[in-house]
Amino acid sequence: MFARHFIDSLEFARNGRELRGEMAVAEMPRLQDLLAAPEGKIGYVVRGYQDKSGEPMLQVEMDGSCRLACQRCLSGFDYPVHLVSRLLLAQESELEMFSAEEDGPDRIFADQHLDVAALLEEELLLSLPFAPMHPPGACQLAAKGLEQPGNAAFAVLAGLKDR
Ligand SMILES: [Zn+2]
Repeated sequence: MFARHFIDSLEFARNGRELRGEMAVAEMPRLQDLLAAPEGKIGYVVRGYQDKSGEPMLQVEMDGSCRLACQRCLSGFDYPVHLVSRLLLAQESELEMFSAEEDGPDRIFADQHLDVAALLEEELLLSLPFAPMHPPGACQLAAKGLEQPGNAAFAVLAGLKDR
């Protein structure tokens, strides 16, 4: 069972703290809709640091895999998870100020009681494709030629090439 960690995020960043562990995919409730099976574990490292200008930051690293349901053929496939995100800890007023800004690191609220599991789940969700699918060529539907009507046109083109 995953022990829920709460950190004082600013203190965590200023003192360069680090938290590492493993989280079961089954323990991420918001992820379940995308999964073919609640299998797999994700290793994580959360590191606090201050960037060059002294801003409090968190770096989140996650490695592992989860079993997503392909949105084309609905069968499961292993999706490798390798992500690194850097998040700037901002006060609530700053969050609003910068919400329209595209540049720079993502900002999260500098929570004194930050739920690490919820943060990890959020970062993982953000990293996943909007409609997860098998890689090209690996999808069962595509293999049966049911993928797109465009396949016929492709065959014609291939035929032309041979002439
Ligand atoms: Zn598929």
